[in-house]
Amino acid sequence: MRCQACGEEVPEGIFCTRCGADQAASGRQGDRRGRRGRFAASPDEHVSQPGVMTALFPHLDHDEVNEFRWALIAGVVVLLVLYAAGLITAALIVAAFLVPVLYVLYLYEVRVYRDAPATVLGLTIGGGLLLGVVVTLVGNALAGPLPFPSVTVGGTGLNLAPLIMTGILIPVLQELVKPLPALLLRRRQEFGETIDGLVFGVAAGLGFALAQTLVQFSQVLTTLDLRTDPANWLYPLVSAALLWPLLHGSTTGAITAAVWRFGRQHRGRLEIGAVVAAVAAHVAFVLGSQLILAAGYTRPLVLVWQGIVVGAMIVYVRHLLHRALLDEAGSLGFARTTCPNCRRDVTAAGFCPTCGMAMSAVPDAIRRAREAIEQPTSASAG
Ligand SMILES: [Zn+2]
Ligand SMILES: [Zn+2]
Repeated sequence: MRCQACGEEVPEGIFCTRCGADQAASGRQGDRRGRRGRFAASPDEHVSQPGVMTALFPHLDHDEVNEFRWALIAGVVVLLVLYAAGLITAALIVAAFLVPVLYVLYLYEVRVYRDAPATVLGLTIGGGLLLGVVVTLVGNALAGPLPFPSVTVGGTGLNLAPLIMTGILIPVLQELVKPLPALLLRRRQEFGETIDGLVFGVAAGLGFALAQTLVQFSQVLTTLDLRTDPANWLYPLVSAALLWPLLHGSTTGAITAAVWRFGRQHRGRLEIGAVVAAVAAHVAFVLGSQLILAAGYTRPLVLVWQGIVVGAMIVYVRHLLHRALLDEAGSLGFARTTCPNCRRDVTAAGFCPTCGMAMSAVPDAIRRAREAIEQPTSASAG
């Protein structure tokens, strides 16, 4: 058939295997090509839905996404049990490690690092950890601890100088330094795709978040009695376990993905917007939390605010990744392969002709198993 979007002669299918356009979509040309209702890393989802797993763990297939989702929920349940039992020190450690450990498992599962695990883990999680320790110690020395929402911060009134320091200058500085080690990987040819850059950035951000939480609560971790009255600890724990890691992961992921796109000569609104959005989201997250606390509102409101900021950032990352996959997956040649999303054996170039999954967002094992072919004869054999 001839694709209605790119005009190429491609095997029969609902999606063009070259450009990913949805042939069944009605209406304007942009709908077919942009296919906002069919996220390229997980075609059953809309691009704009705030799905954390499929945005930050984009190589996972259906079943794996569920496994990781359950692992995350189980971790949060353990955290809540420890909290309820008054084991705050243990709960803090679970909070700090939960998402970063899941991410290391993810990197291992899908082998984003291909044949260079030590280099990739060192420059992403390792680099983030190191920078997290240094930057958090420097930040604390300059301006005092961050609003976690902390158990110590309460209606203390506004003090402008520290507010500008912790709320604006330090977030901007953090966004500048967090991606640096991961950017060293951009020169390597095997990591040329934007999805690689995104995952490396998320890993670096999570390493940073882990270090930040450990440093921020180091005093608590070493001085708090093993069993403590849990009052006041719920909100800092939720913030440390989920909101801070997702903030650091999504902002740094967006920035590294944008830098990868710059390297591929895409310097449009979406890419420059990603850098601006990441910095703005980080400032909004910290400054907003501080203002809410200073105005004397309750700490649940801080969590709601942090959740809104993180949700918006995740949606931005999804749009960036979607655009990148549509632009880049088309460079893959024709091959016989198994689609990890719809599980069919298909003949595909960049996109699964049946479900529209971008074939560059699949685990390394599936990529390696592709049997390259010259001329496709039929789109689907399954
Ligand atoms: Zn096409
Ligand atoms: Zn498929």
